[in-house]
Order: sequence, then C-alpha cells, then structure tokens
Amino acid sequence: MYFIGTRGKERVKGAEAIVKGIAEDGGLFVPESFPAVSFEELGNMLGMDYPERVAYLLAKFFDEYDREELTSALREGFSRFETEDPVPLVRMDEGLYLLELFHGPTCSEKDLGFAALPYLLEKGRGLSGIEEKLLLPVATSGDTGKAALESFKDADWARLAVFFPEEGVSKMQKFWLCTQEGENLDVVAVRGSFDDCQFGVKRMMGSEKCKKALLRKGYVFSSVNSMNIARTVASSAAFFSAYCDLVSSEQISMGEKVDFAVAAGNFGDALACDYAARMGLPVGKIVCGSNRNGSLSDFFKTGNLDTKRQLFRTMSPALDLSSPSDLERLLFEVSGRDAALTEERMDALSATGKLSVRAEERKALSERYFAGSVSEDDTVECMYEFFMEYGYPTDTQTGVAMSVTERYLKKQEDDHAEARPVVVLCTASPYKYPQDVLYALTGNDVKDSFKGVKRIHLLTAMKVPEPIKAVRYKPIRFKASVSPDKMFDAVVKFLG
Ligand SMILES: *Cc1c(COP(=O)(O)O)cnc(C)c1O
Repeated sequence: MYFIGTRGKERVKGAEAIVKGIAEDGGLFVPESFPAVSFEELGNMLGMDYPERVAYLLAKFFDEYDREELTSALREGFSRFETEDPVPLVRMDEGLYLLELFHGPTCSEKDLGFAALPYLLEKGRGLSGIEEKLLLPVATSGDTGKAALESFKDADWARLAVFFPEEGVSKMQKFWLCTQEGENLDVVAVRGSFDDCQFGVKRMMGSEKCKKALLRKGYVFSSVNSMNIARTVASSAAFFSAYCDLVSSEQISMGEKVDFAVAAGNFGDALACDYAARMGLPVGKIVCGSNRNGSLSDFFKTGNLDTKRQLFRTMSPALDLSSPSDLERLLFEVSGRDAALTEERMDALSATGKLSVRAEERKALSERYFAGSVSEDDTVECMYEFFMEYGYPTDTQTGVAMSVTERYLKKQEDDHAEARPVVVLCTASPYKYPQDVLYALTGNDVKDSFKGVKRIHLLTAMKVPEPIKAVRYKPIRFKASVSPDKMFDAVVKFLG
C-alpha cells in the first residue's frame, strides 16, 4: 500500500512513510485509501489475542513487513505489560465501559503505539535503504516522551532527544523523564508550552540546514510523535479490540454501533477511532474531551481553529495545547482529500494562528463528533463522583473525557436519542498524576508525589504499578533547559 502526504506532494511505500515520519513539504502521511475490515474479518479477530489483532491491522497497511515477524515483535513489546491482556475492557455500568490503556511499562496509552515501533523503524530503515542512523526528536507533554525513551533506550541505530515543557508536566512525569537510563538519549526541558515543543520539532525536521547538519554527523531525522502514521494505525487497533471484546462477551451483537470517548490532546486517539470507522468498524459518535484549553472543542462548534489564545496550565497536561497535530489528517479527509486546500489551511494556521472549514464540512464533522470543554472544577467533581459511585480512581485526562461523556449522555437523553454503549478510554494510571488525583478524591494537597501515591493506594486499594515504585530512588540525570528557538542547538550538542 502507498501513503500520500496531506499537502499533496509525496507518494511513498509504508516503510518509507514510517521512517520519514513527516512528508517533505511538512504534511503528514495518510494511507492512499482505507483498507476495509469486513464483519467476517471482525468475526475472525474475536479469536485473536491483542498482539495478533494489532499485527492483523498493521499488515493491511504496511504490507512490505513480514506478518510473522511483526506479530512476534508485538508479542515481545506487549510482554512488558503488567496484565495478560494489554487492553482490558471493564464494564462499569449498563452501557458504560472503560478501556484500560495504562498497563504498559510507562503507565499510559502511549505504550500501546510504541510496542512495535522500534521494530517498524529499524526494519523500515533496511527496507528503504537508509544507511544513516535515526535521530528522533520527540515533543512530549509527559507521556509520549517516557514511552519513547523506554522503548528505544540503547538501540544502537537511533538516538532520541526528548523535549518537554518545563512547567507543563506533572512532577511525577518530570521526575520520571529526568531519571531515564540509557546512553542513546537526551532529555531537555523547554522554557515554553507543549505547542512550542511540537512546533520546534516540526521546524527542525523541515529545515534543510538542520537536515544537512545531521547528515554530516551520519544521522537523518525520523519521528515517533503521533505524526508517524504507524502510531495512528496501531492506536486504531485498540478500538477494534474493544469492539471485539464487547461482541465476545455478548454485550453487543456484531454490527451494532458503539460510541467511543477520548480525552483529546494532539487528536491522535480520536483520529485513530475515525480511521477505524473508515475501515468499517461500527462507530457511533466519537466524544472528544478538552479541558479549559478548548481550541479543539471550539473548532468542532464553530468550524474555526484559533490557536492564538492564552494557554492555561491544568491538571491534565496531555491536553494543554492549542494546535493539535493530527487535526491536519482530519482536515484532509473532511475536505474530500483536497491536498491543495489542506495546504492552504495549514499555511493560514502557521501565518495567522487560525484556520477555518466550510459550513458543510463542519456539519459533516458534527455527525461523527461530539466535543466539549470542561473546567477544572467539573473535572475534579466528576473524578470524585466516579470514584464514589464505582470505587474507580481515574487519571485527570480520563476525568476530562468522563466529564464530557456525562454531558454527551445527558444530551442524548434530552434528545430522546437511541442509547448506544459507550467505551471511555482510560489513558493513564492515576499514579502518574498523584497530587491532582489525590486532591480530586479527597480535597487534600500533598507536596510529595510519592506520598500522594501512597495515599491513593490506601484510599483506593488500586495496585501501584511496578515502574512507579521503581523510579523513586533513581538519580536525576537530565537538568538542561533551553528556550524554544534553541532546541536544535541542544540536539547538536547531544550528538557531539
Ligand atoms: C496523549 C494522551 C492523551 C491524548 O491523546 P491524543 O492522542 O494526544 O489526543 C490523553 N490522555 C493521556 C494520559 C495521554 O498521555
């Protein structure tokens, strides 16, 4: 299968799309067409375990890779998860399910996409005849960076430079990033927002000067951020898998529509769900939760994305951004795959910080999406009530998703709409945000993250993940911070 850039100038095979990460013109790679997954195939997937389900879907897109090899790479990746099923579906109530995506080595949903990524990149390098080593600049609001560091540490064909917003991650996340072990990696705080980090990464990847400087040292850029199409496809597997589990456990019958709710940051998970629907998964609505940084929910409401707004620091750092990267792929689809128009819109976004879609496009989007933005107070209250009702502590991002889901369900009821089962993605362990979670559940503040962990454990009896226990006594290795315009200088220094 071939992949094309959203801005129209490129067409490459899957391995090349994976290794390049981003198209030459700054666009994102998307599949030339969506492979279909029939109900019969879905039926076959019921009998597969998770690694097989992911391999099955990846193989539909990336047909140069050997399926057996891919499956064993995924098996190995998922063997590092704490649960036998990497993505358990938990029934909370009639028609309400949680899809737990936090059982991986770094306790967030990002681990799912990273299970096979080292294999896909290393093999893809060979398949596309690239001899240079890969330099992976990673922008993170906390979770992607840690997942990337753990899955690529000590690979001798790649080096990672992880950039996180100095003030924009939880204390636990920062501690976790800065104590990372491994010789092929660097972790740098950026004096700016996550948008600055992401923009900085895209800018260096698009700069001829930076590319040349890397080449002189024997490296080419690649990316493991959600701009990498392999991550989108791998994420879509979680939705297929949840659907299969609902059918297997006779909660629904094959073909029945299911709604999915996600906390939307860079829009990666929501887009993966959209892709699953385009492949034929019976998806009803995609519910997208934003915190008070609601540029995305405003976009769905008005058709205008406005990124020139004040960015607030919240309890849900994965959602603290105003320019969601994967929205470009949605814009491409909703425009009827009009690359020229997509490019025009992305140019407008970089020139003015704004872009707009037409009224009929906005209407088409509203048939698939329900988006909302919630305040910090709403989120805290929702997390508290959810815990009181079900004894289940969620992380703060999932609190946002849940809060918007409640709003959605209320609207469905008011509209006398047909009720569909809802699956809410539980995207991180509450222990990654111990202070805010403890505050939501008890109203108490603690200064020390590990004290927060202990108290949440005493209160909820939820198991503390091993990696959280292990990090406590590790020394801080990375202390550097740079301004956003000096990110590439940090890379050069790191490469030596
Ligand atoms: C990354 C992340 C999200 C948001 O996912 P996107 O794909 O960026 O929209 C939500 N919750 C957590 C905990 C995350 O790490």
